[in-house]
Order: sequence, then structure tokens, then C-alpha cells
Amino acid sequence: MSLKLSRRDTLLAAASLPLWGATSGHTKPADHYDVIVIGGGTAGIPCALFAALGGARVLLVEKSPSLGGTLFWSTGQIAGSGTVFQQRLGIEDTPDAHFADCMRINGATADPELTRLTVDHAGDTINWLAQQGFEVMDGHPVTGIGHDHFTTRRYQQGTKSGLSILDALLPSLNQAISNQQITLLTGTSATALLQQPSSAITGVTVDGPFGHRDVKASHVVVATGGCAANPRLFEELHGVPLYAQTAYPTSLGNGLLLGMSAGAAIVGAEKYACLPGLIPDAYRYPCQMFAYAPLNPAARSPWEIVVNARGERFVREDHPSVHQIERGIYRQPGHRHWAIFDADMLEKSAPIIPDWTRERIANEHQSNTMFHRAMTVSELAFRAGLNPATLTATVNDYNHSIAVGGADPYGRVSRPSPLAKPPFYSIAMQGWTLVSFAGLSIDASLRVLDREARPIPNLYAIGEVIGAGATSGAAYTNGMLVTPAITFGRLLGQRLASGQSAA
Ligand SMILES: Cc1cc2nc3c(=O)[nH]c(=O)nc-3n(C[C@H](O)[C@H](O)[C@H](O)COP(=O)(O)OP(=O)(O)OC[C@H]3O[C@@H](n4cnc5c(N)ncnc54)[C@H](O)[C@@H]3O)c2cc1C
Repeated sequence: MSLKLSRRDTLLAAASLPLWGATSGHTKPADHYDVIVIGGGTAGIPCALFAALGGARVLLVEKSPSLGGTLFWSTGQIAGSGTVFQQRLGIEDTPDAHFADCMRINGATADPELTRLTVDHAGDTINWLAQQGFEVMDGHPVTGIGHDHFTTRRYQQGTKSGLSILDALLPSLNQAISNQQITLLTGTSATALLQQPSSAITGVTVDGPFGHRDVKASHVVVATGGCAANPRLFEELHGVPLYAQTAYPTSLGNGLLLGMSAGAAIVGAEKYACLPGLIPDAYRYPCQMFAYAPLNPAARSPWEIVVNARGERFVREDHPSVHQIERGIYRQPGHRHWAIFDADMLEKSAPIIPDWTRERIANEHQSNTMFHRAMTVSELAFRAGLNPATLTATVNDYNHSIAVGGADPYGRVSRPSPLAKPPFYSIAMQGWTLVSFAGLSIDASLRVLDREARPIPNLYAIGEVIGAGATSGAAYTNGMLVTPAITFGRLLGQRLASGQSAA
């Protein structure tokens, strides 16, 4: 999920996408639809489209002025087996191998049925996107990018990141809207679910330019995204503060609240996992990302050591699995960590912040309180707010172990130099996430479940509203958010149109 395009780039690109909102936002909805899809983003667009292609009368409700949701910011990295992109390169792959890789990476913490559903249909999803003009970056598919790698090349990113996916989805959707198979209401929020005393969902209350209206439907699909742009709800659900605000701004948890009000169970909070290396703009949360040091040994061999708020090392910095480094950070107070290095390490290692020069890293302390520089380790600790005695002992232990050829207590293999040549540097970093892990409980038929694990009749959920933990587990498993979002959208749309409610 590396951030390749700047937000300015994506917003500029977004501005060039076709918009239908000008008229559709003022369209009055009919009284009844076969399917109402709440949320016109990654999961909602394919769901509405495939339901319409299957013959259903569909209402698509989107609270923003334009469709796309998180695809405007998402890197849009997706994975599947048996794709045309693999065939081009002669790569053989199977859903079973994809399943095994996902479960290996997340330690079998993802829901096995939902993982199976994803991997069994992901190849068809990607091939359908390719038919719609989706094109991948040179050299893709790859085994991995920012997270632990697959064993096979099945992971790809569009040439315009998430926008490549949106570009592939929109022409067909536009056609279905023109053909009046889909009624699109932009600038319109779903504010309540209509529910019978029996608990069956019968429709949605929508608020738009036309006013406030109850619309009936045979099936209601919640595809409103996660809650990682809503610090209060995020913390309440996860028991962990939202340390950094990096999710798409519409990810306010609307669908979680709608589902909860209808009696849905919330699951997956315990799968919260943090990414490493966010350099905050300030000591507050949620903070903004000022810069990013991926701390991923697969991409850059580390020279520095990483310590916690006590000034102690806690992880093998060169662990081949970045997931293990993430888990190490997760166990530290406040998920905070500091990179500590000396002049030699700065000079000889690749810059810890990609795209920054060594000079910038060396001088940033002059204007930025996340960066410190000092002529002794003790003084560095003092300036960084770490315990001088502890950090000095940590550095001395590290250096002594290298000098005597002793084994590293954390199993680190690559120790290219001791931390001995002044000036010394520290960079403060924060564990962070761009998605929410808690979500509406669903079954393998994508039906929303109540607290007794009974389906709430006519209510379905897809996309991040089911919680990142459902398909990605307690880890960042390559593509296991966008891939299931589009795939579940496609499958559910097809099934609802054909009158089936189950997978
Ligand atoms: C920067 C970034 C990079 C990422 N990169 C990757 C990646 O490479 N691979 C990967 O697998 N995952 C990635 N993710 C995660 C992934 O992109 C998201 O989980 C996924 O796109 C969410 O899809 P969604 O359909 O659930 O939500 P969205 O795409 O956000 O769509 C939800 C839509 O619902 C609308 N909505 C919300 N509430 C209402 C309401 N009450 N009424 C009407 N409409 C409503 C919203 O406006 C929005 O348009 C990334 C996330 C981020 C933030």
C-alpha cells in the first residue's frame, strides 16, 4: 500500500474523471428497487454494475459529489491467479497457491471462507478489469511491493494506481446509468435502514438534494468503507487510538453505525495491525504523515537500530518479514519507535526515507522536532526525550556484540557497522494504519450477521465496512482489501440479480 502518487496528483486526476452528479444528484428515487447499494466506491460500484447487468433495478447512493471513494487515494494493488497478466509472462498459478500464501503471510488470522471466496474469483475479477482497459505497471505482476511477498508473481498495480481501477469501472457504469438500469444519487447519504420488527431490512432512508425520503428495496448492500477517518469511532471500536489520519476522508464509519443500529455484530477489532515508520507532523493524534520510512528490509538493508520509548531495542531490524517488524512495533508503548544511527550509517546506507537526500536527513533537525542530532548518544537521547542511560547502554551493547562477534539478542544478521561515529541522529516514528480492522460480521454469502450469528434478512456488506481483518487478517496481506472489495461486489451483484441471496 505504498503511497506512490501524491494526493495532489490523485485529486488532479480525479478532477478529469467524468461526473454525472450534476443531474443525478437531483433525481428523485422511485419507491422501490430490487437492490439498493449504499456507497459508490471500490466495492459498491461493481456491485451496482453487476446487479444491473443481471437485470436488477438498482439504486446507487453516494454521499460525495462523485463516485470512487478510496480509489482516489488507494494504491489499488490487487492479486489474483490465472490472470491475463500472468499468462503474458508464462506464470503458472492457482487459487490454492494464492490461498496458502495469504494465510502464511497473515498467520491464518483472516477468515478462511472469505479468503477462499476472494482467491477463487480474484483471477476472473482481474481479467474482467483487463477487458475494461485496466493496464498494469511495467514488470507486473510481482511477488510483492511494500508487504511480505507472495511466493508467485500474482500482485499488480495499475499504471495510475487506484484510479486505473476506477477508470476501468466507470464506462460500464456510465452506460448502465444511461440505460436507466441504475439510478445514481450522488450528494446523497443513507441515514437509516428501514427494518421490520422481524429484523428484515426493507429499504433505506436517504437524504439528498431532493430532501429526506424512505426508499424500499428487496436487498440492501452496505458498501460505505471503513472508519479510519473517524478518530472517535475508530478508537471506540479498536481500543487503539487512531494515531495518524491517512484514510480517505469519507471513511467515517457510516455503514458500521447503520449496521449496528440494525443489530449487526462488530468483529475483527482484535486484528488491528500497524504499519511502521510514519514520521508524524506533530506529537498528537491523529497526526498527519510528514514523511515515511518503510523500515522494510526487503526494500532497503537497515544499518540503524530501532528503539522504543524506553530506549531499548525490541526487534530484529533486518527481519526478512516486515510483518514481524510491524508486530514488534505493535507491542511497544504507543506503537512509537525511533531510528538511531551515526554519521557512518548515514553516509553508507541508502537513505532511510526514500526520495530524501542524506543532507536533508542530516539537517532536518534544524526545523523539525521529530529529528535530532547530537555529538554523544547520551545527549541525543536527552534531546529526543529518551532515557540517556538506557539508550547509551543499548548502543554500547550493540557495539560490544559486533566487536566480539557475538550473536545479536534479536537475531539480527546484518550489522554492517557499530554505532560509534558522531554526530548521532534519531528520527521519531509512529505505528499507523490507513484502514480499520473492525467491521460488520458477515457470512460467506456476504449476509450481515447479528450478535447471535443469524443473518439479518436482506442486508449484505462488502468492502472495508466488513473490517480489514476479515480478508487481510492481523496483517497487511497483499491486495487483500481492494481485491475482495471488487470481487465481492461483482459476485454479490450477480447473485442478487439472479434472485439468489446465498453464495
Ligand atoms: C492510501 C491508501 C492506499 C491503499 N492501498 C491499497 C492497496 O494497494 N491494496 C489494497 O488491497 N488496499 C489498499 N488500501 C485499502 C483499500 O483501498 C480500501 O480498503 C478499499 O478501497 C475500500 O473500499 P470500500 O468500497 O469499502 O470503500 P470506499 O472505496 O471508500 O467507498 C465507500 C463509499 O461509500 C460512500 N459512503 C460512505 N457513507 C455513505 C453514506 N452514509 N451514504 C452514501 N454513501 C456513503 C463514500 O463516500 C465512498 O464513496 C489502501 C487504502 C489507502 C487509504
